[in-house]
Amino acid sequence: MSSLNYSLIFGVTGQDGSLMASSLLKSSKGVIGVSRSTVPNLNNLNSLKISDDIKIVSCDLANLESIINLINRFKPHEIYNLSAQSSVGLSFSKPVETYKSIINGTTNLLEACRILQYEGNIFFAGSSEIFGDTSIPANVNSKIKAHSPYGIAKQISFELVKFYRTIYSLNCKTGILFNHESPLRSDNFITQKIIRSALKARKNRTYKINIGNIDIFRDWGWAEEYVSAMQLINNSPKPNDHVICTGVSTSLENFISKVFSKLDLIWQDHIVIDKKLFRPNDIKYSLGDIDPLYKELKWKAKVTLDQIIDNLIEAKSKII
Ligand code: NAP
Repeated sequence: MSSLNYSLIFGVTGQDGSLMASSLLKSSKGVIGVSRSTVPNLNNLNSLKISDDIKIVSCDLANLESIINLINRFKPHEIYNLSAQSSVGLSFSKPVETYKSIINGTTNLLEACRILQYEGNIFFAGSSEIFGDTSIPANVNSKIKAHSPYGIAKQISFELVKFYRTIYSLNCKTGILFNHESPLRSDNFITQKIIRSALKARKNRTYKINIGNIDIFRDWGWAEEYVSAMQLINNSPKPNDHVICTGVSTSLENFISKVFSKLDLIWQDHIVIDKKLFRPNDIKYSLGDIDPLYKELKWKAKVTLDQIIDNLIEAKSKII
């Protein structure tokens, strides 16, 4: 494997990092995957059966010098930063950790690339949370109004990436990701919680679960196809930021109703709305604009929400 063909992925143990590694391996690229831990959690990589096919190294984005050493050592031709404290909910109770992982992480990686005069492509995972409520489909020119510490951190990261591209001519860009799911998504996220609850309710008809506000709308996509969009954006000759979305927004209530009815259950028998679980400042309506990415790079999401739900149920039913 020539070192020139290495792709470097920060956050390789996460949902997107693992799917990115798998996708890059399929196109015969060598993958160096980075975890903060010296004993990384390989569950996602193992479930994709690729742990032995990539080189996993330990490096914390909090440490500028170790990033410089890493890039010097492997000379990757492209970099993906998919590492973050990625939970909006948790960011309210752990704002400092969230800011450190996202703002310091972005700053240090950009600085390492500036110092090394790195000429490869660098992709940063941004988030639709920067837009807050979207009255019209959001794109990179939309008004920014984050509602959470996580959203604020991603907003600053987005600005930093633009700044380094403009001022230092780095080939860096942000993919502003709307929610995207896969069986690899951590169990703490609401979509997985709902799938798990519905499967438990199928076995135990008296099963109940408390959840927060279901009167919110999200633009949900399929993670496996979002990592292909990230690659297109990163390798485009024009280093531009883009939103990655489906252009369809669905309420959480509708998501729940679809999941339960696919399992012949009535969701109202099992879901208890609990005001104590409402977030301090939740986004009510989130929707992305599909046009810019389609116009520039001919990418659009193909997997529908119904297919996503079917895939999630199928995967989870093997373990519940
Ligand atoms: P994920 O599954 O949570 O993975 C993120 C990885 O980041 C973790 O595996 C962890 O790897 C690392 N990490 C670094 N600092 C961390 C911290 N303080 N706490 C926890 N983990 C930390 O996230 P993902 O769903 O793959 O998302 C990838 C990127 O896209 C993230 O930047 C996320 O914010 C962004 N994003 C995701 C979505 C979505 O719907 N999935 C939507 C918008 C944006 P190690 O422990 O091995 O270092």
